[in-house]
Amino acid sequence: TRPSFTPVNPATGEARQPVQGHSRQEALDIAAAAAKAQQAWRGTGFAHRAALMKTAAQVLRRRKDELAALMTAEMGKTLTDGRAEVEKCAFNCDHFAEHAEAYLAREDVDLSDAHGPGPKAFVTFNPLGVVLAVMPWNFPFWQVFRFAAPTLMAGNGAVLKHASNVPGCALAIESVFHEAGFPKDLFRTLLIPSGDVGALIASPAIAAVTLTGSVAAGRSVASQAGQSLKKSVLELGGSDAYVILEDADIALAAKVCAAARMVNAGQSCVAGKRFIVVDQIAQAFETALVEAMSAWTPADPTDATTKLGPLVSLAARDEIHHQVRQSRDKGARLLLGGVIPDQPGAWYPPTVLAGVAPGQPAHDQEIFGPVAAVIRARDEADAIRIANDSPYGLGSGVITSDLARGERIAAEALDAGMAFVNKNVASDPRLPFGGVKDSGNGRECGRYGILEFVNVKTVVVG
Ligand code: NDP
Repeated sequence: TRPSFTPVNPATGEARQPVQGHSRQEALDIAAAAAKAQQAWRGTGFAHRAALMKTAAQVLRRRKDELAALMTAEMGKTLTDGRAEVEKCAFNCDHFAEHAEAYLAREDVDLSDAHGPGPKAFVTFNPLGVVLAVMPWNFPFWQVFRFAAPTLMAGNGAVLKHASNVPGCALAIESVFHEAGFPKDLFRTLLIPSGDVGALIASPAIAAVTLTGSVAAGRSVASQAGQSLKKSVLELGGSDAYVILEDADIALAAKVCAAARMVNAGQSCVAGKRFIVVDQIAQAFETALVEAMSAWTPADPTDATTKLGPLVSLAARDEIHHQVRQSRDKGARLLLGGVIPDQPGAWYPPTVLAGVAPGQPAHDQEIFGPVAAVIRARDEADAIRIANDSPYGLGSGVITSDLARGERIAAEALDAGMAFVNKNVASDPRLPFGGVKDSGNGRECGRYGILEFVNVKTVVVG
């Protein structure tokens, strides 16, 4: 039996045309065909792969408006953000087209010792096979391309199980690779429910799995991968903390923190979620943050001037509102927003909660929407303690006028995969991206990203 997927436009609540999916057997057959295609692909050289990846970048740029409109229709991203996302995917394809060969260059190892020269020895990086990608809806193109470009450049194949609410994006991504001239079976989209992921992981056609999404999905997929002894990379949730020190420029702090919180309507694993400010400047920061957050007015996502569109779904919106209400019931002060507008669609305003403390969802949980939580700290040490007192460890930030102090805290004190000083955290194809603790393990992007799905092979020639 084939599943069917019906996306709903979050801005209006209108259902779109249903998309028919693949049966479990069809999905397994597609994975097997991908494994066959990968056998041929692994024998191609970097120049060939790079030429196709460069073409994929061109296809993305040419189809930018169409692809952005698809994201807006299926998950509510603003058209402006969608266009920027497609551009970023193209940049990422170019980056790995240009750098994969150097990232995966053989490394010689000198085995000589006191007795004389040793045998020739080197480390080489072979592809693993076909990687299964389980991906989320929030950046429906970027999440896939940041995995797919390095994976294919390394000589692997890929099958994509995208989130159920973005089937049009999932099919469009497959079409980009086909249009660019990649072998037909090398990159395929599987339109399947999450219940079929386990059968794929167990299939001999699949060598490894990467998942971006919730902690619950990560636990499930990682344990299935563990049963099959297959490598997994997990990019899960985050509750990024920004530490705002007493010497911070308040206007800059408010600007950076609002931008960090409001990225993609707050629906990003690396959105700033907790803003930990030292008592001395807390009042001034709260006032400035409210003003900065107010600049995000909810409006039609198809209007090029709109900065804040709807959330992904009514269910997500209701969950966020519940977290806000529970936080208020437990003592948080509402400084901005917090009211569901009376109109169809999954709308929620920019919201600021102050006086956030342990026991409140805004303190203890990830809020995947436009809700900033301000937490007060006594001093630098107290602020760092609060920042690290989280099950998550993805991104983090420090706002200070003393760059040396900021650098020290970022490099040494914050328990996170990424730490930015006076800037909001953002992914970049050139920099490793990933987290610690419940935020997952492994890295995407940069050289560390491409090294996740290769066989690091030792070769000794006696
Ligand atoms: P999910 O984790 O449920 O979905 C992400 C992907 O995983 C989808 O393709 C989904 O498929 C799949 N999936 C879900 N459960 C399983 C499972 N048990 N086995 C295999 N695959 C699975 O994210 P949601 O969209 O439900 O969002 C919920 C929360 O997840 C957010 O509030 C946020 O905390 C976090 N999240 C984090 C993201 C990030 O970038 N790190 C991105 C999106 C969400 P299907 O759609 O068919 O269920």
